[in-house]
Amino acid sequence: MNYISTRGAGPVSFDEALLSGLAPDGGLYMPEAWLGLPQDWQASKAVPFQDFAFMAAKAFAGDCFTDTELKAAIDRAYGGFDHPEIAPLRELEPGLFLLELFHGPTLAFKDFAMQVLAQLFDLALEKCGQRRTIVVATSGDTGGAAVEAFAGRANVDLFVLHPDGRISDAQRRQMTSVDVPNVHNVAVEGTFDDCQRILKLLFADEAFRNEIALGAVNSINWARIMAQTSYYLSVMVRLGAPAAFSVPTGNFGDIFAGYVAQKMGAELGPMVIATNSNDILDRTLVTGTYKVESASPTLSPAMDIQIASNFERLLFELMDRDADALNAAMAEFAASGELQIPPAALTAMRELFKSRSISDEEILAEIRFAYEAYGVLIDPHTAVGLKAAREELPAGKGPRVVLATAHPAKFSETVEKATRKLPEVPARLAARMEAPERFDRLPPDEGAIMAYVRARI
Ligand SMILES: *Cc1c(COP(=O)(O)O)cnc(C)c1O
Repeated sequence: MNYISTRGAGPVSFDEALLSGLAPDGGLYMPEAWLGLPQDWQASKAVPFQDFAFMAAKAFAGDCFTDTELKAAIDRAYGGFDHPEIAPLRELEPGLFLLELFHGPTLAFKDFAMQVLAQLFDLALEKCGQRRTIVVATSGDTGGAAVEAFAGRANVDLFVLHPDGRISDAQRRQMTSVDVPNVHNVAVEGTFDDCQRILKLLFADEAFRNEIALGAVNSINWARIMAQTSYYLSVMVRLGAPAAFSVPTGNFGDIFAGYVAQKMGAELGPMVIATNSNDILDRTLVTGTYKVESASPTLSPAMDIQIASNFERLLFELMDRDADALNAAMAEFAASGELQIPPAALTAMRELFKSRSISDEEILAEIRFAYEAYGVLIDPHTAVGLKAAREELPAGKGPRVVLATAHPAKFSETVEKATRKLPEVPARLAARMEAPERFDRLPPDEGAIMAYVRARI
């Protein structure tokens, strides 16, 4: 399978798309065509999670790696998860499920893709005898997942940019308490959008990009989307009916993986874009205009995002993969902060997705509700998904699945505020909360970040 950029560059091979992350023309890599799943993919209900991960990896990366390599990489990737089912389903009431995606090393769903990505990076870099410098922007959880996955790897230097003071204590400590020479943490004095903007500028600077062999592992990296399709596939098989999904959404990566699962042939029910009060995606669906406003801090910080990078992938699809038209649209967006969704694309979008924006008050009320009604403590991101599911998906029309994207102990302050109960802290997080931290603070300026990176590789 080859990959093309949403802005027209390519085609390139899977390992090229994997190692660079962002296409040289500033676009995002997409598979040249959609591949179907094997005919018997739904045959058994007792399939281990790893088999679905393999199915997805083989479909999209099978040209570059052997089945044996992919299977071993996936086994290593999920070896550090602390639940035998990897992604267990918890039934809250008949037909309403939480899909628990927080049993990985950093207790958030980002581990699912990042662990696979690190394994594939190792394989690909060893084959070509190269190194990469990875710079990642994080709204909280990607950074920890990347640090955990890439710490100590021989062929990678990792730089993590997080917005200073805008992530939870637990999130920060998961990144900054890992003391290994190939990991560098930077607290950027700005928002996540600043971090993401700087990352894009580093990529846009061709000389710098080549000088440091820059790679991206943000959700713009196709391999992350690929890895995340596996839990949609696994849920479809376990429930044996087209399930509707409610997905707490920031960068549009996790929910786009659901779209990809559909393109591979899985029959999903409706999907809900569940956002917090940073509601650009919800507004877009309602008004037809994708318009940036400033990001404001909420109780679900991993979704405090205005510019949802992966939305470009959906636009590319719904504009019939017309890279010229998309280029024009993205240029308009870059210039004015506003993009009119073409009418046909908007209609298609409304058929594919429902959406709901959830306020901080609703988040607190939903955490309380889940505790009182089901005896379950949920994190604020999951609360956004649960509330959106209960509002947008009528009960009794097939299973409803809420993606539980983080462990409540990662956001214990908010959970305690809502319920007066402190979530139990898993041992691996507790250990991190004690360890010394290591990070540097820098202004939201690409020059400062470039100099910092240069000095350290
Ligand atoms: C990253 C994150 C999200 C949003 O995922 P996207 O792929 O950016 O849409 C939701 N919840 C948690 C806990 C996260 O870390």
